Amino acid sequence: MTPTTPALSRPDFQLPRSHEAFARANRVIPGGVNSPARAFGAVGGEPPFIERAEGAYLHDIDGHTYIDYIGSWGPMILGHANPRVNAAIAKALALGTSFGAPTVREAQIAEVVAEAVPSVEKVRFVSSGTEAAMSAVRVARGVTGRSKIVKMSGHYHGHIDALLVQAGSAATTLGTPNSPGVTEGATQDTLLCPFNDTKAVAAILDRFPGQVAAVLLEPIAGNMGLVPPNPGYLADLRELTEKHGTLLVFDEVMTGFRVAYGGAQSLYGITPDLTAMGKVIGGGLPAAAYGASAAIMDRVSPAGPIFQAGTLSGNPLATAAGLETLMILRDESPYDRLETLSARLAEGLDRAATDAGIPHVVQRVGSMLTLFFHDGPVRNYDDARRSDTRLFGRFFWEMLARGVYLPCSQFEAAFVSSAHTEDDIDRTIEAARESLRVCRD
Ligand SMILES: *Cc1c(COP(=O)(O)O)cnc(C)c1O
Repeated sequence: MTPTTPALSRPDFQLPRSHEAFARANRVIPGGVNSPARAFGAVGGEPPFIERAEGAYLHDIDGHTYIDYIGSWGPMILGHANPRVNAAIAKALALGTSFGAPTVREAQIAEVVAEAVPSVEKVRFVSSGTEAAMSAVRVARGVTGRSKIVKMSGHYHGHIDALLVQAGSAATTLGTPNSPGVTEGATQDTLLCPFNDTKAVAAILDRFPGQVAAVLLEPIAGNMGLVPPNPGYLADLRELTEKHGTLLVFDEVMTGFRVAYGGAQSLYGITPDLTAMGKVIGGGLPAAAYGASAAIMDRVSPAGPIFQAGTLSGNPLATAAGLETLMILRDESPYDRLETLSARLAEGLDRAATDAGIPHVVQRVGSMLTLFFHDGPVRNYDDARRSDTRLFGRFFWEMLARGVYLPCSQFEAAFVSSAHTEDDIDRTIEAARESLRVCRD
């Protein structure tokens, strides 16, 4: 992508300093960004460069303030620069940033995770969601001695070679679901299934008896826009995988500690065999984790033979931010408030689009939601891809110009934080009313 992507942006909404920064970045960073979703490829134009963030707000280098619904793409459930989290990081910082030797806080945060997440007795910390999902797949294969993995179309598990097939969000947006550089060998054991289709999973498990190590999925899909599981779907997968000796792996990198303190698995009462976590668990610093029963996790090195390691895993700053975030979530339980705020936002967006006469559906679980420009429910990747992405691009820019920063793709979930207020939500709905009217006319 070049800095001059066809601009759908409003001519009266200018970002001169960001434009300069983007040009500079483009000279030394591919596409000017360190993760593709940030480049606005799906909505055209150029991204504002961010100077600082506090609570529910982002401030760019051009002097604009936005109500933020990206939350760093998931981690910032308490809002930005939470004073307690910042204090915990500062305290850890003074003691040194990395030791390459064990620390007490690693056991503390592992205890908190094991207590929170139903399927987890033991947990290994890593540095990114990609690593967590990759390691969970390796463990599933190592434990079962099987090779094949069932993956759902439109679900994203990081940029792991074997799973970069119909991978949702950024990959969808770029129109490169299968990246150059990913060999056929790397994906030959990846079996694709549509989400929310029990029969498709059953058919694959029947077709490859004794060969499928894991059925891997986002229990609530967030990387093709927000798509909840159909009622009974997760229970069906639990039953099917058990029957076939296949492990059920939930990628809760986005949903963990987000839709409920115990993640989607506690919300729906379905216990997977392995769980990948990330985003919220690092409290805005690079931490992620994978966990399971002690029996499974004790197969991981050095307790067992399945190798996995990391120089910065369990990093003191990351565990300080993560532990403080989890303790605030445990002690203050903001989930009811997040539910109320998010329901208010979803209803407001729904009414605004209805009043503007624009075909749409709003889908939401807890504080994750998507306004799809799609006529009728979105159940899977094919539905999601039928959304009006051009209209989304216009809507996105109208919202940004009104001080609301939505995810810059139709295929991403928006996140509400506990720092958002009712007033923020109402201002967002008002901005959406105006924006949707402009888009329609
Ligand atoms: C974000 C995400 C990942 C990848 O995490 P990174 O920290 O970006 O590597 C994996 N799985 C899901 C479900 C995610 O939302």
